[in-house]
Amino acid sequence: MLPLRPALKFGALFIIAACARAAFPAPLADDPGCTATDRRFMARAYELARVAMSHGGAPFGALLVKDGKVLAEFSNCEFATHDVTKHAETGLISAYSPKIDRATFAASTLYTSSEPCTMCCGSIRYAGIRRIVYGTTEEQFLRVIGRPPLPHPLASHEVFARTAPGVLVLGPLMEAEGLAIHEAYWPKLRTTPAKS
Ligand SMILES: [Zn+2]
Repeated sequence: MLPLRPALKFGALFIIAACARAAFPAPLADDPGCTATDRRFMARAYELARVAMSHGGAPFGALLVKDGKVLAEFSNCEFATHDVTKHAETGLISAYSPKIDRATFAASTLYTSSEPCTMCCGSIRYAGIRRIVYGTTEEQFLRVIGRPPLPHPLASHEVFARTAPGVLVLGPLMEAEGLAIHEAYWPKLRTTPAKS
């Protein structure tokens, strides 16, 4: 093979770098409806996602907040429990709904590190939570784990628009931080993922 001229060499390196970067999606802009308080609690949701990893779980975390106070927290523990319902959001609701009344759920915000799946949307709906803030979008998550886009994607805001109109769904928020957590975890495994 002939040696590349410097200009061609630089161009080749640029293309290789661009292709490598393309494997990691650029983060989306924050939802303009989110507040500084939302950012503070989303940082905690990402901490809970890291806690999940430290306990052998998938990197998803969620917390319930009312009037600035954290009422409940949960980190994904699907793998450790072999319980497919132990996603961060459904796990939290299952653990705390016997202790938290519906009026409190309705007045709270659920923060979750990743967009809730359809199972978790159902749990959130039945708990009566009216405000949800998520970190990373499902679309971006699928890119990180190397899966093609869903042929008929059903985003969480669409699920709520159809099943529980009036529920406020905000996100993405601080997606760069959330994607970095997923990028450090899923590409190494390339297994069937737990979802949020
Ligand atoms: Zn879920």
